Amino acid sequence: MKHRRNSLGEIKCHTIGLFAITLIGLLAVQTMAFPEPARVSSPLPSSPLKIHFIHVGYGDATLIQLPDGGNILVDTGKSEAAPQLLAALDRLNIQTIDTLIITHFHSDHLGGLSSVLKHFPSDKSREILVPFAPEDLEMKPTPPVEQLKKHALRIIREGETLLKTPSVHIEVLHPKTQTGNQNEDSLVLKIVHGDVHFLLAADIGPTTQKKLAEDYGHQLKSDLLKIPHHLNDTRVFSPFLEAIRAKIAILTIGENPYKAPNAALLALYQQQSKALFRTDQHGTITATSDGHTLHIETERS
Ligand SMILES: [Zn+2]
Repeated sequence: MKHRRNSLGEIKCHTIGLFAITLIGLLAVQTMAFPEPARVSSPLPSSPLKIHFIHVGYGDATLIQLPDGGNILVDTGKSEAAPQLLAALDRLNIQTIDTLIITHFHSDHLGGLSSVLKHFPSDKSREILVPFAPEDLEMKPTPPVEQLKKHALRIIREGETLLKTPSVHIEVLHPKTQTGNQNEDSLVLKIVHGDVHFLLAADIGPTTQKKLAEDYGHQLKSDLLKIPHHLNDTRVFSPFLEAIRAKIAILTIGENPYKAPNAALLALYQQQSKALFRTDQHGTITATSDGHTLHIETERS
């Protein structure tokens, strides 16, 4: 799908620019290209940035492969999905996790932690980035939270820059303070690679969506949005979506007892984005950016 900005900066949608089915091994890989206009002033990044939304059922496990090397894993899925997560990391030939971020301590984000740390033993000593201290939780600690407490943790908050290289910036947009609602307090990350912007919205609900829309407005504008909370909500703060205006929406979901995704919200996201990919249907979803253009590949078509 092709998008061009006119002189007013508005985006016009044109016809599909590239839609190809490729076979890699036994996996059907669907590729779609979402070109952005090149800006003469911006430097051309050297290598691609890849973000893999790994299929771990209901939960998140997002691997960011940086252009200049280095792997960041954001969340680890549920404990029962750990074999799936580790198999996916092996398929990607991941040897080390350089930075591990846990957006919040619910089991569908934290459950695979001990398996990941066992699989990458050389990485055990480094810090895990979290939005708040496990000791500050009001809930009774679950086994994964007890496991987390054994590691060196670094609390990261709104305003912090996690990474700043010539080609990639990663900023923390949320939380600033802790409210006690883990979903609302979960880490929101903005990743910028040249002209291509990604928003990873963890499990935030309408309260945080409103705060972000008010605080950041159109600075939230992103080409790709990781949809918050697996659409296990009944409400969304619409100005939040309107500020993001994502062309690509990624839904990380599998079987669940919550009847997620909410049908009305799913329809709204489908209407707001040019394409919506979901891990239960497409398997692992990979977004590749060269700094100007965004390509999406999926494990299943
Ligand atoms: Zn979740």
